[in-house]
Amino acid sequence: MELTVYGSPELLEAAKSRILELEAALSVTDENSEIYAINHGEDVTLSESTLDLVEKGLDICRRTEGALDLSVYPVVRAWGFTASEYRVPAEEELKELLKHVDYTKIETDRANGTVEIGEHMEIDLGGVAKGYAADRVISMLEAEGVDSALLSLGGNIQTLGSKPDGSAWRVGVQDPLGSGYAGLLEAADKAVVTSGGYERYFVEDGETYWHIIDPASGKPARSGLISVTVVGESGLLCDGLSTALFVMGLEKAVAFWRESSDFEALFIDETGRLFVTAGLADSFAPLGDYEDAELTLISRD
Ligand code: AMP
Ligand code: MG
Repeated sequence: MELTVYGSPELLEAAKSRILELEAALSVTDENSEIYAINHGEDVTLSESTLDLVEKGLDICRRTEGALDLSVYPVVRAWGFTASEYRVPAEEELKELLKHVDYTKIETDRANGTVEIGEHMEIDLGGVAKGYAADRVISMLEAEGVDSALLSLGGNIQTLGSKPDGSAWRVGVQDPLGSGYAGLLEAADKAVVTSGGYERYFVEDGETYWHIIDPASGKPARSGLISVTVVGESGLLCDGLSTALFVMGLEKAVAFWRESSDFEALFIDETGRLFVTAGLADSFAPLGDYEDAELTLISRD
């Protein structure tokens, strides 16, 4: 993580502790985490933030009709993305695992402070947790009177206000097909979250397999997109949607955006073409090789 806060140095420490505290509660592999307890049927009372995140994550699962699915974890693990021991699971194995991938069987119980999941199910908040953590830290900093900050949590950027000189923050969007940047986005008071096939992947027999899984097939989502950046006020929403729109592919993602009013997006496809929704027209500038790439502006209708 990389945190920039204009204010007293203690705030930086407080921000860091809050992120580490959330990580400890939300990690899927840490045996002392709340998510581990949910997945192993342990009797624990969950923290307010874990319940809140599961509820809000489920809202995004419903809204994206399961393109985001908090219960896809057993499939992610079967591909070896959890322990970095990569393998291609057999069709039969995936079919068996997919029987227990179903976010509609996750229920929160506020009164008892618990989350109920179906038998053989396991949940993972990896697709939304960083965005949520950033939201929480931004709120905390705001409450402390900070009006300028930038949080960078591996692929998740969240800005509070603008830079101290009043100009917008400039966020680099990584080139998913090479090194360096595909472009720059100007942002103030916004989350900028990218999901990309280049972030975590392995190659076997000439085929590339990445960590974003299509819950319908149990296989890495091959929708033609290689990078999706979502910009909006909510880090949680941008995080969930960057993963979900990657799964949907360009056509469905554009239709989804046209029905929405709470985010904008930048898509890069496997051939290096750029697609930018109307609201980012003035804040995105391509860089390097991408200055000559085909750029399509997506309008509202
Ligand atoms: P992100 O980097 O935000 O796109 O999140 C990717 C992470 O979320 C992966 O490393 C998996 O742990 C998990 N994941 C992958 N595919 C999905 C999906 N379709 N729905 C929910 N979580 C997913
Ligand atoms: Mg995400």
